[in-house]
Amino acid sequence: MNGSILIVEDEEKLARFIELELTHEGYAVRKAADGRAALSAALSEDFDLILLDIMLPEINGLEVLRRLQNEKPTPVILLTARDSVMDKVAGLDAGAVDYITKPFAIEELLARIRVALKNKVRRSAQDGSAPEAEEGVLTCGLLRLDSKRRDVSYDGHRIELTNREFLMLKTLLENKDIVLSRDTLLERVCGYDYIGETNIVDVYVRHLRSKIDETFGVKMLQTVRGAGYVIRSE
Ligand code: CA
Repeated sequence: MNGSILIVEDEEKLARFIELELTHEGYAVRKAADGRAALSAALSEDFDLILLDIMLPEINGLEVLRRLQNEKPTPVILLTARDSVMDKVAGLDAGAVDYITKPFAIEELLARIRVALKNKVRRSAQDGSAPEAEEGVLTCGLLRLDSKRRDVSYDGHRIELTNREFLMLKTLLENKDIVLSRDTLLERVCGYDYIGETNIVDVYVRHLRSKIDETFGVKMLQTVRGAGYVIRSE
């Protein structure tokens, strides 16, 4: 078995179609047709991944996602009919690992599912080896951030960062492989009460790119169009 997946989708035909495809791919599949049923299934059973429609009867998908993240964090890929940046950003802010806009090609959904499950395995492997990891140290490839010593280096070469650049890099590293919206980054780096230019986030990302990516010839700080920024080791 490849993993267990909960499909939360009120369009019966679509839910059935995804179920058939996933079953064919070797996943164990369960379905829920509204938000309430989804929450009760997700809280009573363990799923490796949840495909979650946003527009749902009873409780909408974003609310299901928020409650789930509070009570039982599980990787979620959002299915959204609305090609709205707001929904995607809200969904990613609420903890979704990815989203796909309907209508989608099943191959694309399958590819995103494989990535989400691979990342989940990687995260649990990291959790398992946590005692060996140095406390307060975050890494991404050869990049290393020591929050206790406030020290950043790449392959042993020290990188000088301002306070806000450091905070921005730390936030990105704490969420490695997860796309963070500009709003999220702005709140973390400048505080909730920040009044000023929102493109300040882009400015700090530019500084970090120049100090890390351009200096060491890597492409770690990546822009995800319409969604935000992510740091990745590949
Ligand atoms: Ca729907």
